[in-house]
Amino acid sequence: IFISFEGGEGSGKSTQIRRLADHLRGSGLEVVVTREPGGSAGAEAVRHVILSGAAEDFGVRMEAILFAAARNDHVEEVIRPALKRGAAVLCDRFIDSSRVYQGVTGNLEPAFMAALEQAAVDGVMPDLTILLDLPAEIGLARAGRRRGAIDKTAEPDRFEREQQDTHEKRREAYLEIAESEPVRCRVIDADRPEHDIAADIADIADEALAA
Ligand code: C5P
Repeated sequence: IFISFEGGEGSGKSTQIRRLADHLRGSGLEVVVTREPGGSAGAEAVRHVILSGAAEDFGVRMEAILFAAARNDHVEEVIRPALKRGAAVLCDRFIDSSRVYQGVTGNLEPAFMAALEQAAVDGVMPDLTILLDLPAEIGLARAGRRRGAIDKTAEPDRFEREQQDTHEKRREAYLEIAESEPVRCRVIDADRPEHDIAADIADIADEALAA
């Protein structure tokens, strides 16, 4: 089974992936935990370029192509072989991150994004996508706490408000995808105790594995 996790920053993806991995390993499955951008040697090299200062001058189209190139390497080197041997693959971000970050907030044409997506995955699609849904404000505050960078007493400045608008736009875009693909996508209210979220995700995964 191939399960991707999506959601904005601070939505708890990595925590919940860790918990589901423990749960599935407990039932004797081989579990491969991976992430994007990255996940294979080639894709990690591309991640380094994308997240480095060098990428500041890249256009969003170039960036989208780099994400797709990294994804193709990740799929062929890690995900497809793991699925072939019967492992469960848990991936932190996948196609929906590209649809949302490059497609929607990057303003790239849907047809261009769809072509890139198909070339990158070459038929390897998630069986299940867990969308950890959270108001932008809460996610940003959590991500900020993690970085230790937020003064919670301060009013948001212009940049922070803009950032919040962008996050809210991404949240809406994620929810729209989930609504249009209700079989693949499951929306989880991520503004709840970690344990409750993990229990819901474990139930969904167990159900999918039994199907
Ligand atoms: O997984 P994480 O949230 O750490 O992702 C690293 C960064 O890469 C994110 O902050 C996100 O803005 C960016 N990203 C992106 N487009 C993708 C995937 C990730 O812009 N397709």
